[in-house]
Amino acid sequence: MATYGIDLGTTYSCIAYVNDTNRAVVVKNAVGEDSTPSVVFFETDDNVVIGREAKNSARIYPNLVVSLIKRRMGEDDVELEFHGAVHTPVTISALILRELCQSAEQNTHEDVRDVVITVPAYFGVRAREATRAAGEIAGLNVLNVIPEPVAAALHYEAISTDADRTILVYDLGGGTFDTTAIRIEGQDISVVCTDGDHKLGGADWDERIADLLLKQFVEEHPGTEAAVSEDFLQELATAAEDMKRALSSLETRRYNARFADEVSRIELTRTVFENATADLLERTFTITGRTIDEARQRGVTSFDDVLLVGGSTRMPAVAEGLRSRFGFTPKLHDPDLAVAKGAALFALIESVKIALPAGAEAGPGGAGPSPEDMETAAAQLGVDTDSLRGLIGKKVTAVVPRAFGVKILTTAGDAEADDDGFLIDHLLHANAVLPAAPPTQTYGTVEDGQTGISVEIWEQAGARESRRVLDNEKIGNGTITDLPPLPKGSPVAISFAMDEMGTLRVHAVETTTGKDLDIELAIGGLSPEDMGQARTAVGKYTVGA
Ligand code: AMP
Repeated sequence: MATYGIDLGTTYSCIAYVNDTNRAVVVKNAVGEDSTPSVVFFETDDNVVIGREAKNSARIYPNLVVSLIKRRMGEDDVELEFHGAVHTPVTISALILRELCQSAEQNTHEDVRDVVITVPAYFGVRAREATRAAGEIAGLNVLNVIPEPVAAALHYEAISTDADRTILVYDLGGGTFDTTAIRIEGQDISVVCTDGDHKLGGADWDERIADLLLKQFVEEHPGTEAAVSEDFLQELATAAEDMKRALSSLETRRYNARFADEVSRIELTRTVFENATADLLERTFTITGRTIDEARQRGVTSFDDVLLVGGSTRMPAVAEGLRSRFGFTPKLHDPDLAVAKGAALFALIESVKIALPAGAEAGPGGAGPSPEDMETAAAQLGVDTDSLRGLIGKKVTAVVPRAFGVKILTTAGDAEADDDGFLIDHLLHANAVLPAAPPTQTYGTVEDGQTGISVEIWEQAGARESRRVLDNEKIGNGTITDLPPLPKGSPVAISFAMDEMGTLRVHAVETTTGKDLDIELAIGGLSPEDMGQARTAVGKYTVGA
């Protein structure tokens, strides 16, 4: 059975697998397209429509159609109601995944079960775990969740014959942006550092065009009700995306905006469009500059290649800006499909590890798999033994996307502490190589006679690491209980460890009594009960395109 890679995008999603000629290929959806709009239309209380039709229905049923849900992955308390049923970003994403897999099954006549799903490199742990949960709720076996730029680099590496090199991935999709420095050395692909903004993407460019269209319409037809018409605004939103795409190859695009009996013939030039969106592009370059600086501090002083990933990098201003600003000659290589194809390759690498008996995949110096093991695994995965051999030693090393720490009370006058004296002390810093186990830190209890110690785990929320509580987000907590009354300042040793999959384990121990606490934060991971409920919520629908 093949394994599949899924690019679960903010605006479009795509699924791929590695075929029997060892090429990663995209599976077309039910309507014959490579990618499917990540849009869900709750048509009735037991039927959902996903993709192009759902997108088109947004105009007529704005309250029953959900788009850009990925931007809300990992956020607490997001509940959306359709026909009386409550949904979350996780259940909505699960429906998108179900449709992608169902379509793929119809096309390949094979069950889709083992998958790798991609996430923006800059996704926090919660959002990553929410993505994994969505896959499981959709009935999939999620082998792993990997950063989109790593997937793109894997695809690029697979098709490129060059030797070792460093690459910068500039990934501007529909809703998220990140830049990632990646080093490729022999069989190893490692992330050097990554940065991004998960609320910046093509949809923001669309919005600017929609604003321009509306402004001109209202100027030409003062007193019109157009600005409060949901229908009209939705129509402008759709037209805006079409115009934006057209302006990637044309210099000028016209649009006839109609509302009631009034018409505006609107002409938009690429220059006007680029001026109206220059600040958005500038935000991507600020982040790119930061990534280059960070990479330099980590020993990467130049890039052999700059890869453009994500549909929005088709806008000519992206490559022009990277050229004039940074002197790069970026490569636009399969920008819409590279992530899904790379994920398919990674899914295969992951399943090789599973298919070969433990220890058999040992690298240089190890025993390596027996010929029989190789043949069984190759047959199971639908590839030949030569390509299997090529995949065995491949290693992908990721980094911690953001800093993690604990909330502590400071003793006196720390400028970064809040009014109550609290700040976040980070133990694990952004861009630490995974698996990571930073040194244990020891803190003291704050009051005499304390019988419990509460440990709060926080993740960096802003673009930069900051000790201010406001710049971080609480992601988990636990309490060491049943302690004898302790004197103030009793030592509490806290250790953090994050594995390759991004799961964070925190161990806290009060060292005089040895009483301790283990917290495993598959953060944002739902409880088995929540998972059960979500499966029922998702399972009741028939899903179609
Ligand atoms: P992705 O999430 O990578 O599929 O990127 C989707 C985004 O790319 C959407 O915002 C699309 O509007 C945008 N996009 C796709 N093709 C083009 C194009 N030719 N010019 C500009 N933007 C595009």
